[in-house]
Amino acid sequence: MFGCSRKDELPKGPEKEKKIVVGLSLGTLMEDRWIRDRDIFMSKAQQERIEVIVNNANKDSDLQYKQVQEMIKQGIDVLVIAPNDSNKEARCVKAAKDKNIPVISYDRLVHDSNVDVYISFDNNQVGKIMATYLTDHVPEGGYIMIGGSENDSNSKMLYEGAMSVLKPFIDNNKIQILAQTWVDGWIRETAYNFLFEELKTHKDDVKAIICGNDSLAWGAIDALSEAQIAENVQVAGQDADLVACQRIVTGKQALTVYKPIKDLVEKTVELCVKLVNGEKIESDGTINDGTYDVPYIFIGVQAVTKDNIDETVIKDGFHLYEDVYQIK
Ligand code: BGC
Repeated sequence: MFGCSRKDELPKGPEKEKKIVVGLSLGTLMEDRWIRDRDIFMSKAQQERIEVIVNNANKDSDLQYKQVQEMIKQGIDVLVIAPNDSNKEARCVKAAKDKNIPVISYDRLVHDSNVDVYISFDNNQVGKIMATYLTDHVPEGGYIMIGGSENDSNSKMLYEGAMSVLKPFIDNNKIQILAQTWVDGWIRETAYNFLFEELKTHKDDVKAIICGNDSLAWGAIDALSEAQIAENVQVAGQDADLVACQRIVTGKQALTVYKPIKDLVEKTVELCVKLVNGEKIESDGTINDGTYDVPYIFIGVQAVTKDNIDETVIKDGFHLYEDVYQIK
């Protein structure tokens, strides 16, 4: 009888197979998007009967290293790491590789570490989308760049993408970069303080601001509002954070870039299985991590404005209509 079978007589099936154990090491959970990354990862993994050990390093690189070492001791089969600092986490990759554990660099690239694969969004395209929208709407005048954390590989990719679009306008003296900065640790208040100071000199000239993400855009918009010039300046961010989407529909923020986290997570979970089974991985190309060319898989992104928010983030179920439009 099924109910009283001895253990060794149980039918062989998927339930008897050893589960894959994934170590998911996140450098931060500060922005909404990372919570979403984590939660979707957990539920997708559960569907696939994968066990996940998840840790948040809370923006502390030494802690991230310790957590990864601990995960390795716990017997992970694959490490998925979103580094707090792209320049410091090669030691985490090395610790895993020393134990023959494959490593996926997730969303942010770990420099000089030769990961098995880097999966992210097309971060260069994020910057291009921002600059294309802004130059279409503000083809002349002063721009300010408030980049993300300099130790995050994505900040530079975004900046380079944006500059590739802005350059001809700058060369033709149509657009002037009035000021630019990186914001360590992606802190909203730092973006606010920076812009608050810059507006003392550039209040009348600034027409557009490119921000590393929606949180920095939030800080920038607060500084513009305080200077009572929010209506005159177009601000772009990324992530499609709920509050950013609310600012978009109320006209306070011009643009965000929507990155479908679900697609990134699902693809990553697939990659975990492939790597553990030693299967070949198809990539979209390679990216140089500072020392090595590593396979790069990227997911497409979309511009989101007041005009298409319903057909993008809302249609995709990323946010609910009632939440974006704040309907009680
Ligand atoms: C990600 C952004 C995120 C930022 C701050 C970047 O690496 O690409 O989506 O907002 O980190 O966490």
